[in-house]
Amino acid sequence: MQLLMDRICRDGKIREGNVLKVDSFLNHQMDIELFAAIGQEFKQRFSDAEITKILTIEASGIGIACITAQYFGVPVVFAKKNKTKNIAGDVYTSQVESFTHARSYDILVAKEFLTQEDKVLIIDDFLANGSALLGLSALIRHAGATLVGAGIVIEKGFQPGGTMLRKQGVRIESLAIIESMDQNEIVFR
Ligand code: 5GP
Repeated sequence: MQLLMDRICRDGKIREGNVLKVDSFLNHQMDIELFAAIGQEFKQRFSDAEITKILTIEASGIGIACITAQYFGVPVVFAKKNKTKNIAGDVYTSQVESFTHARSYDILVAKEFLTQEDKVLIIDDFLANGSALLGLSALIRHAGATLVGAGIVIEKGFQPGGTMLRKQGVRIESLAIIESMDQNEIVFR
């Protein structure tokens, strides 16, 4: 998606540890016109699929998922990051290793919001090592729902998540795939 790639080149900042900061339009301040274009692009790419729900993970996936959901006309469910050790009630849980914070945490979704009938599209901001996507797809599996695919805004193609998940048969549509990046240049696939 050219508009997005141009924006990444213009406003993205590369930090230590292969982290791309896109706080000015995606992760802190949010450019809603760009989000609308992203949502329409996801809708077009998954136009052949039946989708009943969008699943994302707090916090940075929520904005994109909500704007995207307007084009699909379906609800958004976001997996909560569990802050306490005792998980109460009727929830599905799984584990995610945080790429940006180098620790692991549990995520959960209430059973009432993910059911066997659901055909789920995952939406997230980044795909790096794939742990967030694996955690979300585990929630879908626990619920007996169907994973239709994943819409990713920025995939870091030099990290293993995309390859690993596609090999497992997950349909992934990434709007910008970064082949390599350093202080001088960002190269897209
Ligand atoms: P993964 O689980 O695929 O390793 O990483 C995906 C998650 O980590 C995303 O939900 C995203 O929040 C965060 N993430 C991974 N790489 C980056 C990055 O380069 N920049 C930012 N801002 N977030 C990242």
